[in-house]
Amino acid sequence: MMERVYIGLGSNLATPLEQLRSALTALAALPQTRLAAYSAFYASDPLGPADQPRYVNAVAALDSQLSPLALLDALQTIELEQGRTRKAERWGPRTLDLDILLFGSQQLNEPRLIVPHYHMHARAFVLYPLAEIAPELHLPDGRTLAELLSACPFVGLERLT
Ligand code: ATP
Ligand code: MG
Ligand code: MG
Repeated sequence: MMERVYIGLGSNLATPLEQLRSALTALAALPQTRLAAYSAFYASDPLGPADQPRYVNAVAALDSQLSPLALLDALQTIELEQGRTRKAERWGPRTLDLDILLFGSQQLNEPRLIVPHYHMHARAFVLYPLAEIAPELHLPDGRTLAELLSACPFVGLERLT
């Protein structure tokens, strides 16, 4: 079955703009998957530890026949290929973060995968890029993206180019 999937991309190390461009190329090359759209890039203030560079974020839309866990595996492989190392510190700096925001209208609560992403509703660096490519979006629980945006000010965020 083909599902529309939204991926959040983020980077704040090793030339973030290039990391995101490479990641989009890698997403476009995934098996059984088409890169349908992607947003502009945004600079954002970091979550968690403040003593790290600002992030560059974007959101991509995929049409994929992969299962959710197969897609997660593929995303984690791309993260590793682009030099992601996992440290003890949560939300520390990273070359690349690829999170599954939405997977069709599925709701998943598995040890490795929670969908919709547990915190997407509160992250301006997710919601504003997402709105560029899917303004009419609804979450599986019926909330509209427009509602989420109205509760999430455009703060700490800067649209690039
Ligand atoms: P946050 O999840 O708050 O954005 P993070 O992206 O930095 O933090 P990671 O270190 O990238 O967190 O991922 C930690 C674990 O989260 C992964 O190993 C993965 O199994 C799990 N995970 C759960 N739900 C998701 C999801 N929707 N997308 C990606 N990873 C997820
Ligand atoms: Mg993340
Ligand atoms: Mg992640």
